[in-house]
Amino acid sequence: MTETRAEKAQRLVDEGRVTIGQKTSSFTQAVVQGKDGRYRTTIYVNGTFWCTCKWGDFHNYTDDLCAHALAVKLATEKENEPCP
Ligand SMILES: [Zn+2]
Repeated sequence: MTETRAEKAQRLVDEGRVTIGQKTSSFTQAVVQGKDGRYRTTIYVNGTFWCTCKWGDFHNYTDDLCAHALAVKLATEKENEPCP
C-alpha cells in the first residue's frame, strides 16, 4: 500500500525528522530528513510552500503541499499546542 502525503507527513513528524529553523510571522523554514536525503522546506502563512524535493519542483507556490511541507505544518501546529 502506498502511503498518502498526509500519512507520510504524520510519520515524518512522529519520527522526529522535522527540524524547524527560522520562523517569522510570514513563513516557517525547516529541514526535513527524508529517505533519500534532506529537504529544505519553507511554508508561508498564505498557504503556499517551497521545497527542494521533486514534488516541490512542480508544485512550488501552489497550495498543493508536498509531504515535507505538510510535515512542517503539522510540526508547527504541534508546537502551538498547549502543554497538557
Ligand atoms: Zn518536499
